[in-house]
This record gives sequence, structure tokens and C-alpha cells, in this order.
Amino acid sequence: MITVTCPDPACSLDFEVGHGQAWRRVSCPACGAEGAAILAEVRRRFRTGDPGSALPQMRDNSVVVVLEDLRSVHNVGSILRTCDAFGADLVVMTGVTATPEHPKIARTALGAEQVVPWVWRADAPSAVGELQELGIEIVALERTDKAVPITELHIGLPFALVIGNEVAGVSGPVLAKASRHAAIPMLGSKSSLNASVAFAVALWQLRSGL
Ligand SMILES: [Zn+2]
Repeated sequence: MITVTCPDPACSLDFEVGHGQAWRRVSCPACGAEGAAILAEVRRRFRTGDPGSALPQMRDNSVVVVLEDLRSVHNVGSILRTCDAFGADLVVMTGVTATPEHPKIARTALGAEQVVPWVWRADAPSAVGELQELGIEIVALERTDKAVPITELHIGLPFALVIGNEVAGVSGPVLAKASRHAAIPMLGSKSSLNASVAFAVALWQLRSGL
């Protein structure tokens, strides 16, 4: 357990947070305040990714993956394995997304969690902005009005592919920043795939089109 202080100056309650909560939204038990600052503090104290760490040097042909608030550890592990297989250069894990220190991630990552470069950021919109400042084009994998079939998306390097939360999808602020929205053509009735499966299909398609 660690003790953190409520970010709301009017409350400032000190409360305890357990290790397992480092991958969830943490809110103040008194006033309910939550947010990026407190999550960053919890992550920092548990050393689950250094919130202040700089992005590694990006090359002109970099492929970056942004994971926005993924809630399934198994999806994250599976995505890391695919990143290793298909040659992603960096994974930016944001918000509640489990990072490689999570004890269950190796079950699906099978060692990829130790070789794929990653950083953690408290929130996805600013992480995406950080990548854009490096000249990296942002592709959101999301079914939106402006989404094109990913088979028709022709994009050069460097790019970042954003995968959203399993239920909420890519958030509005990230969609607003992304220059491209892409969706995987569907034939069935559910019109959705598991997040890690969708990611693998999308990354393979984008790689194949280069
Ligand atoms: Zn509070």
C-alpha cells in the first residue's frame, strides 16, 4: 500500500492505494476526485512506467501503437506479442492500460513484454499530441462517420495506430486529433472484433500497404 493525497486542494485527503489499483482508475474515497495527476502519481510510486520518461528516439519509418485505457490485461499481452511479431517500434500505454510490470501480462505476451519498447502516459489525447509534434501521423482504429475501410487507407511512415478501450472505443478527444479514422470491413452481425484481434488485423493491413 502507498499513501497518496487527493488532487483536489479543497479536500487534500491522504488515502491508501493498493498495488492492484495501479491499473485502475483511482478516486478519492472522500470527494471522488480522480484524474490524470493522481493516476500518474500512483503509477510513479509503484514504478509501473515512469510518467516522465521521454519518448525514445523515433525514426522516420517508425510504427507506433497507442493503447487508450485498455481494461483487459490479456488484450494488452496479446497486443504486445503482435507488436513484436509485426515490428512495432514503440507502444504508448495510456491511462488504465496495464503496463509490462503487471503480473498477468506475460500469460499472453509470452516474453514480448520484455522486448517491445514502451512508455506510459496518463492520458491518451496528450500522448497523441506528443507524437504529432514528432511528425507522426495518427490513425484511430474506430468505426466513425469519417472512417475509411482500412483496406483503402494508404499511409506512409511514420504512423501511430490508436486502439481504444474495449467498450468505449477511441475517445472523442483522440478522434478529434487523429488525421485518419479507419475501420475493418465486417461481414457478420456483431460488427466488432476483440481489441487484440482487431489490432493484429489492422497492423498487418497497414504494414502490407507500405
Ligand atoms: Zn478528495
